[in-house]
Amino acid sequence: MSDVLTVQDGQVISMDYTLHVDGEVLDTSSGHEPLEFLQGAGNIIPGLEQELYGMAIGESKKVIVQPEDGYGVIDPDAFVDVPRDQFPDSIPMEVGVEIQVTDESGQPMMARIDMVGDDTVKLDFNHPLAGKELLFDVTVVGMRDATDEENEHGHSHNGHNH
Ligand code: ZN
Repeated sequence: MSDVLTVQDGQVISMDYTLHVDGEVLDTSSGHEPLEFLQGAGNIIPGLEQELYGMAIGESKKVIVQPEDGYGVIDPDAFVDVPRDQFPDSIPMEVGVEIQVTDESGQPMMARIDMVGDDTVKLDFNHPLAGKELLFDVTVVGMRDATDEENEHGHSHNGHNH
């Protein structure tokens, strides 16, 4: 048995990370607690999870995740034209504005204004990071065996218990 712990399924991993998209820092654990997750349970995006196997504590890596292994490719069917007069005056009619709408079953959904026309507004229901290449700088800072309960639930129980 090797006494060097490396990332594998069933380990709770603590990881520092910085996410760059289009050359800008979009998200980072710097200044916060490291991200903690159960490896192999799909807690983090698949393209990143896949690259972590075999890493040791203290090891750093740059991981590039293509859209199909990240937040998906842009779905052309996720753009919807809505008559402009259906929007309340309180919503600014500007490209990029995020709005919450309700679908037929009453579920809230987030959309962004993609285009403003004279009579219609085009809403984009894609994830904001759909179609984007993600560049992660990650450092594994800790790992431990998951408990039976964590494995059963498919997530880490640090800081919460459900
Ligand atoms: Zn749980």
